Order: sequence, then structure tokens, then C-alpha cells
Amino acid sequence: MPPDGSRRSPAPADDRRKKQRTISSTKEATIYCPNCGQPIGDPRQPCSHCSHQVRPVQVDESLSSWIPYKNPAALIAYYLGIFAFIPCFGFFLGIPAVIAGILGLKSAKRQPEVKGKVHAWLGIIFGTFFTLLYLSVILMVVFAMSQHKK
Ligand SMILES: [Zn+2]
Repeated sequence: MPPDGSRRSPAPADDRRKKQRTISSTKEATIYCPNCGQPIGDPRQPCSHCSHQVRPVQVDESLSSWIPYKNPAALIAYYLGIFAFIPCFGFFLGIPAVIAGILGLKSAKRQPEVKGKVHAWLGIIFGTFFTLLYLSVILMVVFAMSQHKK
């Protein structure tokens, strides 16, 4: 017969853990371990059945993939590209938007986890588009003025 005392001693701690698990499982929907298929109370904790680490909430991941907090150059390019839409004033933002966009793309290439490629490209596209637009307007005005002089 095995010594009962040594078996029972870890029981209170196990009971507490079970209570915690039921409390957290009432708050959120039951999540099942992708490795062993057992229900898990807290997805931030490794699985208690097979110690498989379940990935933390996926919403956070998609959010950080859309807003490149770690790639400021890409963010700057994005906002400069948007503000380049403002007439006259925007002309001075188009070229910096392209430069910031290229810097953002470079840092996204160097460290893929910083992301921001979409923002960088939007900055480059908007910056190029509005710079060309304003340049063509300026050229047209200059051309019209030179024609007027004759
Ligand atoms: Zn598991």
C-alpha cells in the first residue's frame, strides 16, 4: 500500500488550480488545446495536459500587423502620403513620403516582424502620385504663362 500522505499533500494546490480554471472558463468561451484536444481554461498558459503553449489572442496579432508600431518610417510615409492630398502644402510632403516609404520598406525587409510594408507602399504610391500631379500642374501653369507672354 503506498503512503497516502505523500499523495494527498499536493491535492489542495491542485484543487485551487481547478477552481481558477473553472472561473476563467466561465468568463471566456472554452478553448481546446490544438495539440491534444483537451479543454484549456487560460490560453495564455501552456496546456496543463501536454504543456503545449497555446498562442495568445489572435486579435492582437492582426491589429499589430495592420498598424506598424515598430516601423515608424512606414507610419510616417503613410501619413505624409495622406497629407500630400492637401493642395499646395501637399507638394512639400510628397517627396518626404516617398523617402520615408523607402526607409520603411527597408526596415521591414531587414526585420520582417516590424511589418508596415503596406503603409510604406501607400506612402510611396501617394507621395509619387501627388508629386507628379503637382509637378504637372506647375508645368502647365508655367507653360500657359509662357504662351501668354508671346
Ligand atoms: Zn494539450
